[in-house]
Amino acid sequence: MLLRLFCLIAVGIAPFLPATVFSEEPSRSETVAPIRAKQGDVFYFSVQVGPDAVSVEGRFLNRPVPFFKMGNPQEFGALIGVDLADPPAHDDLLVEISDAAGKRELRRYPVEVLPVHFLTQELTVPKNYVDLDEESSKRAAEEQEKILQSLGKITVQKFWAGRFMMPVEGKIAGSFGLRRIMNGQPRSPHSGEDINAPQGTDVRATNEGIVALVGDFFFSGKSIILDHGLGLYSMYFHLDQVDVAEGRRVRKGDVIGKVGATGRATGPHLHWGTRLNGARVNPLSILNIE
Ligand SMILES: [Zn+2]
Repeated sequence: MLLRLFCLIAVGIAPFLPATVFSEEPSRSETVAPIRAKQGDVFYFSVQVGPDAVSVEGRFLNRPVPFFKMGNPQEFGALIGVDLADPPAHDDLLVEISDAAGKRELRRYPVEVLPVHFLTQELTVPKNYVDLDEESSKRAAEEQEKILQSLGKITVQKFWAGRFMMPVEGKIAGSFGLRRIMNGQPRSPHSGEDINAPQGTDVRATNEGIVALVGDFFFSGKSIILDHGLGLYSMYFHLDQVDVAEGRRVRKGDVIGKVGATGRATGPHLHWGTRLNGARVNPLSILNIE
């Protein structure tokens, strides 16, 4: 199978801060173990708690799992992400429930991480795409740090609501997790999904959020990062045009920019990425979250 190279984006793994959470959602039933999730998946998880519980915090694969209140006061929910490079293994989701008096209850839920056979792509690209000059290399490293800092914050508020939507109409490349070897050198896996669409096509916010970062970067070109709260971010790269400013609140479906080929891109497409508390997750996976 021949996969076209759309972009060379490979943002690293972000640091993160723990957080607690409050926002209401309709009631659902508690998730039943054992839970199975694939590499790069996002899944919804909920716990039933006693009437005295005031907060719930979780941890999975060494990442924080901030819970939010559901419509039923004795239920808390969370979105949990498996990084594309987390090894297939059994691990426990740890959940700590605290009451007003400070009493804590610790629960463990077994989770099995299932492997995904990500394809490998060997490419020969112009030498300057992989061997950057000193100035470009410095610029790219500084920008990478800035992007990771933005993705590392956990906003203690949930902005998204309801289902997530595709940000652009176009052909999905199926390139999430692609292992890439460029000019014989292994590179970081492709941490987003590329959607092929004509230059100038509207790019829409996948859900409600705050514009956390806008920039014009060496690799990702004109870029937008949306903060959906509770550690969930969506990224829109290689844009031809950015129509929002940092700090602005956007609703689901708002046009935030136009498809382009800025930065290191071989043609017009949207690189759509999602992060969940530091995990590089498949953006198509969040479309399945109710
Ligand atoms: Zn891409």
